[in-house]
Amino acid sequence: MLNPTLRNVAVLGATGSIGTATLDVISQLPRSQWRLWGVSGHAQLDALATSLAEWTPAPERIVASDLQLSAAFDAKRWPAASRLCVGPEALVELASAPEVDVVVAAIVGRAGLESTLAAVQAGKRVALANKETLVVAGPVVRAAQQASQSELLPVDSEHSAIFQCLQASLAPAERIILTASGGPFRDATVSQMEAATVEAALAHPTWQMGPKISVDSATMMNKALEIIEACWLFDVPATAIEVMIHRQSIIHSMVEFVDGSTIAQLSPPDMRLPIQYALTYPERLICPAPKMDTSQRWDWTLEPADRERFPALDLGFEVAEVGGTAGAVINAANEAAVELFLNREIRFTEIVPACRRALENHHFERHPSLQQLIELDQWARAEVQRWHCGAKS
Ligand code: NAD
Ligand code: MG
Repeated sequence: MLNPTLRNVAVLGATGSIGTATLDVISQLPRSQWRLWGVSGHAQLDALATSLAEWTPAPERIVASDLQLSAAFDAKRWPAASRLCVGPEALVELASAPEVDVVVAAIVGRAGLESTLAAVQAGKRVALANKETLVVAGPVVRAAQQASQSELLPVDSEHSAIFQCLQASLAPAERIILTASGGPFRDATVSQMEAATVEAALAHPTWQMGPKISVDSATMMNKALEIIEACWLFDVPATAIEVMIHRQSIIHSMVEFVDGSTIAQLSPPDMRLPIQYALTYPERLICPAPKMDTSQRWDWTLEPADRERFPALDLGFEVAEVGGTAGAVINAANEAAVELFLNREIRFTEIVPACRRALENHHFERHPSLQQLIELDQWARAEVQRWHCGAKS
C-alpha cells in the first residue's frame, strides 16, 4: 500500500505524450500528498527544462538518459535545487531510489525495460504505460513482481478499463473484450495501405500519441501488444481475449463474467484518467480529463475486427499463446520495422510481415532468462536490418 501521507512520484519518460499528461495530473493533485520527486527525459530536454521551471518544489532528481544530448545541453537550464544524473544507469537508480513510492513507466519501447523492471524489483507501485516491457519480458517481470509484492497497475486505457471492470466482482473474468479504435486505416483496403504515407499512419482518429504507438495503432500491432500485455497483467489465457473495433474510443474495454454479465468502462478518450487512477487507486479524485457529454446523442458502434486486413492481430494471439521468447522477438522486430517505416525506408505493409518472419526464424525457448531476452531483442533488430538490406540489393 502507498504511504498515506506523502507520495513521491518518479516519471520515467516525462517528455513524451504520457509523461506530459502525467505531469499535468500530478500538478492538479493535492501538493501535501503528491510530490514530483524525479523525472527523466531523453531527447526533448529543452521542453523538459521549461516545464520544470514552473514546479515548486523542484524535483529532487532529473535524469537525462542520453549521454550525448545531455552533454550538449546547457546545464544551467535545470532547476538549481535538482540533482542531475545522466545515462541509462541513472534511470535504474531513479526507478529504485528509496525515496520513491510510485514510478510512472512512460518510456517508449524496449528502452524502458531495465528501469521498469528495477521499479518492480524494488517493490514500488508501478503505473505501467510501457507495455513493451511486459511483451518482451513478461515471465521475468511477473516473477519479480511476485517476489517483491510490487503493485503493477495499468495505464494503458484498455487495461485500466479491464482493471476497473474486474472490481465489479470477486469472480474471475471469463472473457475480456479489448476494444480498438481501428486506427487511421480501419476502412482502408490493402492496396490503400500499401501506399500509406507516414503522415497518414500518424493521423490517429481519436488519440494524440507518440509516433511509435501511433504507427502501432495503424498496423494494429498495438492491439497485438495489448493482447499479450493483458495475458500477463490479468493472468488469463489468450483464448479468453476477443478484440472488437469501437470507433469512438469511449468504451475502453469490457469484462464478461461466468453468468454472461458484461461490465464496461466508459469515458471520453483522455489518458489523464487512467494515469491518475493508477496513481491514486483505490481512491478516486477529481481529474482534469473531460466527463461524458449528456447533451449529445450517444451513437456508438462495436464490430468484429478484420483479422485478414490486419494480420498483426493473429500474430498477437499466437505470441500470447506460446509466451517464452516470442514476445521479445515480435516487439524488437516491430520497433525496428516501425523505425524503418518512419524513415521512409520500407512500406507500411512490410512492418507486420517483418515481425512474422523474425518470429518464425528465431530459436524458441519456453523459459528464457532476462539475458536471453535481451540478446534476442538485438538479434531480431539485426534480422530486420539484414532482411531490409537484402531486399534493397
Ligand atoms: P512518446 O514517444 O511520446 O514518449 C516517449 C518517452 O520515452 C519520451 O519521454 C522519450 O524521451 C523517452 N525515450 C525514448 N527513447 C528513450 C530511450 N532510449 N531511453 C530513455 N527514454 C527514452 O511515447 P508515448 O506515446 O508517451 O508512449 C509511451 C509509452 O506509453 C509507450 O510504451 C506506449 O505504448 C504507452 N502508451 C501510450 C499511450 C498514449 O496515449 N500516448 C497510450 C497507452 C500506452
Ligand atoms: Mg491502449
